[in-house]
Parts: sequence; structure tokens; C-alpha cells
Amino acid sequence: MFRKTVQRMAGYVPGEQPRDRRYVKLNTNENPYPPSPQVLDALRDAIGENLRLYPRPMADELRERAARHYRLAPRNVLVGNGSDELLAILMRATLDAGGRVAYPVPTYSLYDTLVAIHGGLAVPVPFPDDFSLPPALAEVDAELVIVCNPNSPSGTWLPPQALGPLFRRRDRLVVIDEAYVDFADGHCLELLRDVPNVVVLRTLSKSYSLAGMRIGLALGSESVIGELAKVKDSYNVNRLSIVAGAAALRDPRWMEANVRRVRRSRDALTRRLVEMGFVVPESQANFVFARRPGEDLGPLYESLKRRGVLVRHFATPELRDGLRITVGTDDEIAVLVRVLGQLV
Ligand code: PMP
Repeated sequence: MFRKTVQRMAGYVPGEQPRDRRYVKLNTNENPYPPSPQVLDALRDAIGENLRLYPRPMADELRERAARHYRLAPRNVLVGNGSDELLAILMRATLDAGGRVAYPVPTYSLYDTLVAIHGGLAVPVPFPDDFSLPPALAEVDAELVIVCNPNSPSGTWLPPQALGPLFRRRDRLVVIDEAYVDFADGHCLELLRDVPNVVVLRTLSKSYSLAGMRIGLALGSESVIGELAKVKDSYNVNRLSIVAGAAALRDPRWMEANVRRVRRSRDALTRRLVEMGFVVPESQANFVFARRPGEDLGPLYESLKRRGVLVRHFATPELRDGLRITVGTDDEIAVLVRVLGQLV
């Protein structure tokens, strides 16, 4: 009944959303602070009779607001049901059977799953130890290249100048997944000016505290956005998400204030982890990757969980010596640091 690729694949395993007890939940990079009150007001106003009507197919209100926010035209914006959906749309639009998708690893493991679903071939290119751009990525044969920037789980960020070699070739699409970029020192939007084959992905899940609304944005040239729009579901973003997203982008100061708090907490958390003997790459995201090189931190993850603190542990050989810890409130971080201190 099912395609061979589907039968063979495991399916993506999202971070746990446990219901059994209350955890200090630092495992899925959600924002610990609420979204702008303007979002809640706009949602209240939007709940009514209109819900019986389909939404605008291209999410016009949000598309136009996003264009204004990023100083682009609406034709340069595609709205998605989370940036996860936009990643799937990108693959649907670019991959024939066996089509190649290259990305530096370790990175966001959903890329592997989506490549498998679309019958493509993943071409993982290992990051150097310092998480700089792997030179081989510039020359690799692929229909699609994805750079997660800031990268997960390392938290490391590459400035746009460092990505230059990727754009020597113009015969493939290069996606910069900027899910966490509002927490970084810069971003890659300037590439949209000069590079016709680049797509920048943004999400309102992290910095804008709207993970529950599922809102992603693909930014690119008119022709690229036009091709992607052809393969999306007709009504891929629901009415309430359109309203919420537009309201959030009308109040960027709220987001910026939350980002400043998260960045301050992140840097303090990094210092504490280093004092405890962890190796922590400089994070430009809303999480940190705390390593003990060579040691399997699976048992430490389990002990933290038993004590009510949930972080993310990846069991793969390259990542099992680390814990990815979302930057929560200062109170949550204090609990994590106290419990971790007892355990190590
Ligand atoms: N890209 C990266 C690197 C992520 O970590 C996530 C969140 N898991 C996403 C994209 C997807 O974000 P969303 O679908 O919530 O917009």
C-alpha cells in the first residue's frame, strides 16, 4: 500500500511535548515570553462569522505586512504553515526522484526526513570542528542546498560574507534557514538583493513567540516565489494565523524586547555551563549546545528529566556528547543550573 521510501523511513521525531507532569521545559526552543498583546487583541476580533469562509490563498494581509517589514515587495514573500511546510514546498518544487539535497551536518534533522519523503537523496557535508562553512558545500552537485543559520543544535552563526562561495553556482537553489536569526548579531537578507537563486526562511515561532500558530515566511525573487506558490496547498495558512502573524509584525518592538532578554540570559547561561566544565560553542540562537566531548550525555538527560527539567539529547554518535538547552526565563535557568550542578 505504501511507497518503499515511506516504509523504509522512520518519520521525524519532534521534541517531546509531555503531558504527564509539569516540567521546566527547555527542549523545543519555544520562547519563554508571551506574544505581543496586539496579537491577542487581533485574534479576539477575528473570531467570528468569517471563520466559515476560506482564507486568502496567498495570506494577503500577512504577506503584505511581511513585505513591508522586510523592505521587500509582496511578490517576494510566500507565507507557510510554519517554515517546516515551506521546507516541504521547496523540496516538492525542486526534487525529482533521486534529486540531491546538500546541507552541512549536524543540523536540523527534519531535512533528512523531508528528503526521504520526497524521494530525494540527502548529501550531508560535515561541518568542520569550528562550524564554519564546509568548503565542499560550494561545489557539491545538488538541486537544493540548505544552510541552517544559526545552526541547530550548535547555535553557531555564519555572517553573509562567509556564505559567498555558495553562490558561485547559479544552477541550484540555496536556502538559508533563518529560524533563529532574530537572536543573532546579523542576518542574510542582503543576499536577496544580489543573488537570484537564494531563499531565506523565517518563522514567527521563535522570536515572535507564536510556535502554536504555525507561521513561516519564504523570502526570495519573484520568479522563485512564483514557482513555490504553484505547489502549495490552496489554503495553506488559516485565517487566524494570518491575523496573528500580521499583528505580530506590526509590533516588532515587543519581539525585540523579548529577544534582548533571551540573549542576556543565554550569555549568562553559557558562562555558568562553562564554569561547570561544559564546552559550549558561541550561540547566536535561543538555545545553547553544552558538550562534554566524548561522553554520552544520555544518562545526564535522563537524570535531569527525572528531576523535572526537560532538555534535548540527540542519540546520534556525533551529537550524543551534548545537550541542547533552550534559553528559558531566568527562573527556569536557575532551576536547570541548580539541578545540573548537583548532577555533575
Ligand atoms: N528550521 C529550524 C532550524 C528549526 O529548528 C525549526 C523549528 N523546529 C524550524 C525550521 C521550523 O519552524 P516552524 O515550522 O515552527 O516555523
